Amino acid sequence: MPGSLLREPLVIETDAVVIGAGLSGLAAATHLVRNGFRVICVEQRKEFGKVVGESLDWSAPELFSHLGLPMEELISTEVATWKRHLTVTRSDGSRKEFLPGAWLADPPWNVEIRTLHLDRDRTDARLRELAHRLGVSILNERVADFAVLDEQNPRARRILGLRTQEGTFIRASWFVDASGSDASLLGKRFGLKSFEYGPRKVAIWSHLPTQEWVEGTNLHMVSSPGVYMEWIWEIPIRPGVSSIGYVAPGSSVKAQRAMGLGTQDIFVRQCRSFPRLQKAFDQDPMQEVATASFLCRTYEGVCGTNWVIIGEAASQSDPITGNGVTAALRHAEEAIALIRHYRHRGTISFAARAIYNLRVKAVGLYFNSLIEKLFYQPVLRDRLGLFGTARVYTVPAWLTNLFYTRIRPSRSLLRTLIICSLMAAVRVMTWGEYHIGAFFFGMSASRQQANPVEGQIYAM
Ligand SMILES: Cc1cc2nc3c(=O)[nH]c(=O)nc-3n(C[C@H](O)[C@H](O)[C@H](O)COP(=O)(O)OP(=O)(O)OC[C@H]3O[C@@H](n4cnc5c(N)ncnc54)[C@H](O)[C@@H]3O)c2cc1C
Repeated sequence: MPGSLLREPLVIETDAVVIGAGLSGLAAATHLVRNGFRVICVEQRKEFGKVVGESLDWSAPELFSHLGLPMEELISTEVATWKRHLTVTRSDGSRKEFLPGAWLADPPWNVEIRTLHLDRDRTDARLRELAHRLGVSILNERVADFAVLDEQNPRARRILGLRTQEGTFIRASWFVDASGSDASLLGKRFGLKSFEYGPRKVAIWSHLPTQEWVEGTNLHMVSSPGVYMEWIWEIPIRPGVSSIGYVAPGSSVKAQRAMGLGTQDIFVRQCRSFPRLQKAFDQDPMQEVATASFLCRTYEGVCGTNWVIIGEAASQSDPITGNGVTAALRHAEEAIALIRHYRHRGTISFAARAIYNLRVKAVGLYFNSLIEKLFYQPVLRDRLGLFGTARVYTVPAWLTNLFYTRIRPSRSLLRTLIICSLMAAVRVMTWGEYHIGAFFFGMSASRQQANPVEGQIYAM
């Protein structure tokens, strides 16, 4: 009989429980403990590793510094590298750099125009060490179920405790779900409505030594006109090492497997089509690859009486948006500000919940709908050209994040409404352009029928 079955059920009492020790969970636990809460972070994994390595947008470094990890320190300890530009490369080898104008760094704008790439293994290790030092207890068990009061009443449902597969019961006043997009524990448990963008996609990646190492993000676009986009990221995560990854719809990866290719073959074959990447594979042709499948999805109603959903469990944005880390750290900061504010009352007010819910939903829909319509689907990309589309996407995306950072909407309804209205306006314009494009330039759609696997258009 396994030892766990013989164990006495353990009951623990604490102030706050965070489920998941990914980026959002560790950030939330750190903010909570700094605000005087006793925190238990429950994480099912005992071993960490094979993490992608991320290219950050320009808002993320400030959020790291709020956690006590300023940019310069992340660089000097080789946890991160500078991201000095974003380069888009087409399959014909032509390329274009995108970066915010240097003048924005000067008064009166004073915009931080520097940002980073993360070595996530090292970042997570730093965050775990920080959380541990501050007093967060990490329990290596798997959350299996919740004890919920008023379960059938969405406005009143309250979590009393959670039970792990190993038999531990944790009773707490506050619960933060940072279980990531696959698990989405509370979203699934409460049957929350969600909005999905695009097909389920697959990412295949490896960390490779690179001689021609540049301090910038390179995006290599695999797809030709008329087809749903596939792409490769190249991100320097520490001096001499880059994270290189291929992203494609699951149907495309399946079709390549049907041709007899293994996961590693697919990865190497796609990367080798770009001369710049060939060199990395010549040096080390047999790197171990990691895979993940993901669906861009945003939940509605992610904050309740005494629980909040954060990070990818609340909203998974497409990796190409570079908004995942910013969203995870922002959710963590905003959720903990709510919990701190309502600590003595014990219940987050209905208005405060509605404001948080509105913002998480609006940001998730904004980034995912823009990237899906502008980049992945060929209608606008073929009309504006890849570089034109990159500009049309990056400028509003960057400005939105900058505006968000500056106006700090947090618990303010007015500021939330302003930022959400701006995002809605950009979405409506993109939606209009997309449908005009699809109507007058329907050729893209008809060309796709010739290749139903690669060229499928997904309803939005
Ligand atoms: C392929 C890919 C590339 C990306 N690239 C970028 C990028 O370039 N830039 C960017 O900004 N973002 C990027 N992202 C997004 C970014 O990685 C995430 O937003 C970020 O890691 C936040 O994740 P998280 O903490 O919310 O969830 P996760 O990292 O998934 O953490 C969830 C944790 O919860 C644990 N858990 C789940 N279920 C249970 C359970 N029942 N009990 C206990 N523990 C549980 C899991 O083990 C895990 O440790 C990318 C994502 C992917 C998939």
